[in-house]
Parts: sequence; structure tokens; C-alpha cells
Amino acid sequence: MVTRQSSATGRKLSPISQRANGISPSGIRKFFDLLASMEGVISLGVGEPDYSTPWRMREAAIYSLEQGKTMYTSNLGTPELRQALSRYLLDRYGLDYDSASELLITVGVSEALDLSMRATIDPGDQVIMPAPCYVAYPASVTLSGGEPVLIPTVEASNFEIDAADIEAAVTPRTKAMLVGYPANPTGAVMPREKLAAVADVAKKHNLLVMSDEIYARLTYGVEHTCAAALPGMQERTILLGGFSKAYAMTGWRIGYAAGPREIIAAMTKIHQYTIMCAPTMAQVAALEALRGGEESIQEMVADYNRRRKMFVKGLRDIGFSCFEPKGAFYAFPNITITGMSSEVFAEKLLQEEKVAVVPGNAFGACGEGYVRCCYATSLPELEEALVRIRRFVNKHRR
Ligand code: PLP
Repeated sequence: MVTRQSSATGRKLSPISQRANGISPSGIRKFFDLLASMEGVISLGVGEPDYSTPWRMREAAIYSLEQGKTMYTSNLGTPELRQALSRYLLDRYGLDYDSASELLITVGVSEALDLSMRATIDPGDQVIMPAPCYVAYPASVTLSGGEPVLIPTVEASNFEIDAADIEAAVTPRTKAMLVGYPANPTGAVMPREKLAAVADVAKKHNLLVMSDEIYARLTYGVEHTCAAALPGMQERTILLGGFSKAYAMTGWRIGYAAGPREIIAAMTKIHQYTIMCAPTMAQVAALEALRGGEESIQEMVADYNRRRKMFVKGLRDIGFSCFEPKGAFYAFPNITITGMSSEVFAEKLLQEEKVAVVPGNAFGACGEGYVRCCYATSLPELEEALVRIRRFVNKHRR
């Protein structure tokens, strides 16, 4: 279908909506379509564990299929999973959520994020978020008709957001802030006091907070602070959580939102009409993850930590300035010693040395001068990637 003129109004009609036109293709996917056709590439690109889902979750799902459990579930998700999740959030953070009205099981954090915006944001509302940030954050706001307001964070401040910077960006149109710690792409973790100061800004200006805590379990030697668990925050926070990263369950597409009853009810209406329910067998696997997946998390975190230390040291030995990531599974080296832009660096590194990384500007303009490397890949591959990156840098160093 091509652009045509309305015979009634004379207006030009594009087949594509303004909202869809208002977002760009993901800077991650766009780049990775390129490498699909290449052989011998070491991919530090897509942010996902190199582990398969631990067997006990796979087995539980297989058994449920054998039993013929292939129907829709409740729109909210199975009562068993919501009850287990409610217990988990109580044990872990002291947060009390009613499993019948304050929890919604979603198709990953991706859906939970989208629903949280569509249920709360009206055209013209502003949503403040620290940057560089996960590619879906600004897009989710734009698609709901809102306006994303990106606040740059810098390496010198450990990519932590400052409450004063958030407060300076608040306008009469600000409706919410979206935070995501541990952070993608930087690996930053917010210290409790700093996050509490950000929470105070939310309370002072009566803002909603969407807190994407998908990497909550992946921290190294530091504590993750749950935004909803800070004093006075549960009533204004939509906690977005998931199973993809910590339990190595990316392909199952399962996550959740926990929040105030009326917001969860509004999100559920949209979910009802668009998704119906999260995949049934994935809900079974997620329940098993909550019941018995703890040991696997501990093992994977210990392994990511070994890789993190080795890889960050390797990047620094090459000559990059590299912030020490304390969470998630990304390193975010500063590549300005090469004099290349992030995109040129990533493209040439892929073409010349077959190592795939993501240009930092895919995560906002302030990510320029950096690239994101996912170290959730095997140690031998990380070692080989470092050899190739060193060769590349020695060739191009200014
Ligand atoms: N939030 C962040 C910060 C992510 O990095 C990702 C995936 O990379 C997601 C959300 C999407 O998670 P899910 O697989 O649960 O949809």
C-alpha cells in the first residue's frame, strides 16, 4: 500500500502510523542482521545467556505438555505462579503483593514495559529516564504517545543517575520516570542511598516509577536495591521483573509486573485484548524456576563474575578506559582511543576481525564513544575476542 490521498479530505494518507514512524529499528537488531550471513563471528552482541535453561525447568514444561496442559490460562497468569511470585517478592524484598490483583504475568519484561506505558501515559506526558539506556525504553514511551526525556549519565559517575539531574528535568508534563538497574548497556548498579534520593524526587513531584529489574539477580559483590521496596515507593512503582536473564530463559518469553491494583487492572485490560495470557508451558517453567532454580542462579552468577573480571581486565590491558560493571552481563568500554565513532568501530571490527559488539549510540546519543560487549559467552571465546580486538586496536590506534 502506498501513500494515497483521501478523497473526502484531500489529506495525504500514509499506510504507516505516526507513532510507528516515530521510532527507529532497534540499533541492536539492525546491526545483527548483518552478521547472520557471516561465518566465524564471535558475537558479544545480543544480550542473552549462553546457557540453556536449566534442565529442571525444561523438564517441568515437557511434563506439562505430556499431560496436555496446552490451554489458555487466566489472563493474569496461573494462580500457582502468581502465588509463588508473591512469596518470592515478600522473601526477597519484604514487598507484599496480592497475587489476585497486584501481579500480572506477561510475555517477558518487554510486554510488561509496553503495558506499563500504555496503561499510564497519555499523549504529551513526559517520562524521564537515565541514558544510555535499553533500546526499548524510549520506544515504549513514544508508542504510547508520550515523550521520552533522556538524562545522560557519565562514566566518571559510574553511570549512576543523580537525583538533582532528574529533578532539574521535571516539568508540569512529567508523569513518570523509568529506571533500570542493574543497567543495560553499562552494567551500573545504583547504590541504595542514591536510589533513595531519586525516589524522594518521585515522591516530591508525585511521579510514577517504572523500575525494570530484569537483571536484579545478576550483581557482583554489591547489593541490588529494589525501587519498590524503598520507603513509600510501593504505591507509586510498577516493578517489571522477568526470568529471561537470571534463569537463562530468554526464549520462553515470560516476565511479570507488580504494582498498585488499579494500574495492574488497567494493564490487564490491554493484555487481555492483545495477548490473552503468557504461554502456558512457559508459566510452568517459571514456576519451577521459582521453586528450585536458586542453585542454578548462583552457579551462573559465579561464572559470569569470572568472565566479567577476565574480560574487563583484558579490555583495560588493551588500553581502553572501561568502567567496572557491577551488574548484568555487559562491559561498556570507551573506544575513543581509536578515534572512530561507535558505529564505525563496530562495523570495522566485525568486517576486519569478526567480533560483533553493539555501538554505544544505539542506547542514546550519550552512548557515543562506547561499545557494548556482552560477556555471557564462554571464556575461550572471550579470550579469542580480546586477541582480535587487541589486533584491531593496534592497527587503528591514533
Ligand atoms: N529490559 C532490559 C534492560 C533488557 O536488557 C531486556 C532484554 O535484553 C529486556 C528488558 C527484555 O526482557 P524480556 O526477555 O523479559 O522481554
